[in-house]
Amino acid sequence: MSGKLDLVLRQARIAGAEDTLVDIAIDRGRIADIRPSIDTDAREEQLGGRIVFPGFVESHIHLDKSCLLERCADTRTLEEAIGAVAAAKRDFTVEDVHARGRRTLEKCILQGTTRMRTHVEVDPRIGLRGFEAVRRLKRDFAWAIDVQICVFPQEGLLNDPGTDELLVQAIEDGADLIGGCPYTDSDPKGQIARIFELAARYDLDIDFHLDFHLDPARMDLHEVCRQAKLHRRGGRVAVGHVSSLSAMDHARLEPVAAMLADSGVALTVLPSTDLFLMGRESAHSVPRGVAPAHWFAERGVECSLATNNVLNPFTPFGDCSLLRMANLYANIAQIGSPDDIARCFDMVTAGPARLLNLDDYGIAVGNPADIVVLDAERSGLALAELAQPLFGLKRGKRTFSRPAPALHRPDHASDPGERRPASPVEVR
Ligand SMILES: [Zn+2]
Repeated sequence: MSGKLDLVLRQARIAGAEDTLVDIAIDRGRIADIRPSIDTDAREEQLGGRIVFPGFVESHIHLDKSCLLERCADTRTLEEAIGAVAAAKRDFTVEDVHARGRRTLEKCILQGTTRMRTHVEVDPRIGLRGFEAVRRLKRDFAWAIDVQICVFPQEGLLNDPGTDELLVQAIEDGADLIGGCPYTDSDPKGQIARIFELAARYDLDIDFHLDFHLDPARMDLHEVCRQAKLHRRGGRVAVGHVSSLSAMDHARLEPVAAMLADSGVALTVLPSTDLFLMGRESAHSVPRGVAPAHWFAERGVECSLATNNVLNPFTPFGDCSLLRMANLYANIAQIGSPDDIARCFDMVTAGPARLLNLDDYGIAVGNPADIVVLDAERSGLALAELAQPLFGLKRGKRTFSRPAPALHRPDHASDPGERRPASPVEVR
């Protein structure tokens, strides 16, 4: 190849095909070539056998209500968390939402996330101010991350006059998809029907907050799957939380898995929020409230793990690392086998990419050069050890760097065996 290439990454291991070392050539923002050795005098980065992948895919986060802890009273339950944010959001301005969302979005980028779906609340209290701010964030950070905006009625739709009109306005102003939250509605089935109706009218994907409780007797999941089939929207509907699935044994879950796979409804599990808010009625032996996503994935259901909330009454934690979220999930789901650990890595990368219907995601010739380097030689070990993302590219341009940590030995100390390759990744 001649010098027209922008960059070549040398000695990379592509996650999922980790036995082979390859060079990856990048030209005009796209992956131009992948082979064991590329002969070129283009600028190069030596990766020393480290893992590359197309970046984490955040399938469910709330930028608009992140970083609110200092404004909200201490809360314990889901209802109290919704109430605390409902009170705080009356005072939100576009600038305020933008500033808090920016803080969170920058952390996501620094953790190696290159694609995202964010939920945004729309109702008469907040109006379209949150939507306007997140739309600006999407534009401001397009150099580093692709963001889908999902507008939804957190506090109910049919019980909250004016919300429907605002949702329609947001869709007409450029929202990418529509969400629902039937468990806060006075008429859950009515809300589900209305959301499917709007999705059909504007040809949108749908992403519900669903069955965020531990009572299998009152689930809306069957109705969502029924409507998905009725409207032929298989592959375009996702449901988040569904923590009630964590309260069912495998015999009862089998038909649910078959129903999800058959209707093409995807499942997003939000481990940190589910752990924090479920089981509050128990003082000991607290149920975890985390649906077994890997078990559903094994049965052909499209599954993802996601961050949901960051530093607010729903989840007072958050570094925006999807690798940490997958590690947390694997730990509480008691996963140890290499196959299941690989499935967890898939649920923060290729799984959510399919859920978001991204058709140009992957380290493959012709795709955008969205590439993140992890400081590990196996993706399973990266997940187990929480390996650090070292740098990332979006469409071939570097978006972040996190130099690998280094020990500073005194001169007289002998090195008992260097773990890192001899030529560490150069970070420019
Ligand atoms: Zn959510």
